[in-house]
Amino acid sequence: IPVTPYRGRFAPTPSGPLHFGSLFAAVISYLDARAHGGQWLVRIEDIDPPREQPGAAAAILKTLEAHGLGWDETESYQSNNTERYLHNLNVLQQRQRLFWCRCSRKDLAGLAVYPGTCRDNLSPMPDSAIRLAVTSEQDCFDDLFQGTQHANIKQQYGDVVVRRRDKLFAYQLAVVCDDIADNISHIIRGIDLMDSTYWQRELYRGFEQSYPEYGHFAVIHSAGSDQKLSKQNLAAAVNDDRAQQNLMQVFQLLEIEAEPAPPLEMLSQATGQWQRSKLFKKCTLHLPTVTLE
Ligand code: GLU
Repeated sequence: IPVTPYRGRFAPTPSGPLHFGSLFAAVISYLDARAHGGQWLVRIEDIDPPREQPGAAAAILKTLEAHGLGWDETESYQSNNTERYLHNLNVLQQRQRLFWCRCSRKDLAGLAVYPGTCRDNLSPMPDSAIRLAVTSEQDCFDDLFQGTQHANIKQQYGDVVVRRRDKLFAYQLAVVCDDIADNISHIIRGIDLMDSTYWQRELYRGFEQSYPEYGHFAVIHSAGSDQKLSKQNLAAAVNDDRAQQNLMQVFQLLEIEAEPAPPLEMLSQATGQWQRSKLFKKCTLHLPTVTLE
């Protein structure tokens, strides 16, 4: 029986340097991969130039290195994968799964789910977004951290944009094309991406590919706050000169006891203690201290 080898990934958007929440995500996906004898890849998700910050990709890679988070293979950049996305869009078009949508933001204002207005536009039209026609209803999967998840994707999520009107490829499309091409077996990421998973699984079905495993872990809030750490709320950049302290702080949240040591050694101590159950059914974790340098 062929056993799928474990291949995980960390896929940051280079819209700024890593903050503590994104370092936490990197460490968890790393530990889960290493604890299962797996590979761990890094993919820079740079398909949205207006959101990018010059130098952020390099800063992110430097932060990973400073924390001992060494990745397998060469890091990849979504900006190099345009051909792949075009090819895959073509596959979906051949299967009559795409339609061209000219609804404006105003047309859709106040609607939680796209109402299917343009579903009959099965061939290319200028100045349009491209949407995937979502055909599945109930979807159900076992999340490695959150347990059984289910939703009616057609009713609750609806037809998703795969290429924007400004011609940029949508995150949902790009991430699935790359996860398939990179043979990713385990997608370990923050629970803020749980909703996206339903659309992404619809795309796996559209491409007739088997699903990866999913694990969505708690997002980090600052002490006493009900907002997640994010670039939008100006979370501070991780200080690479404090790698040991940063890792200690991550491990504390995971109930891992490691001695201060060079980062690589701390990560190897932590790999031996890693247990998914420590994050079971947790949606938020609060930082113990208010100040993070
Ligand atoms: N690039 C996405 C982000 O930074 C993460 C993609 C993913 O892990 O699927 O939020």
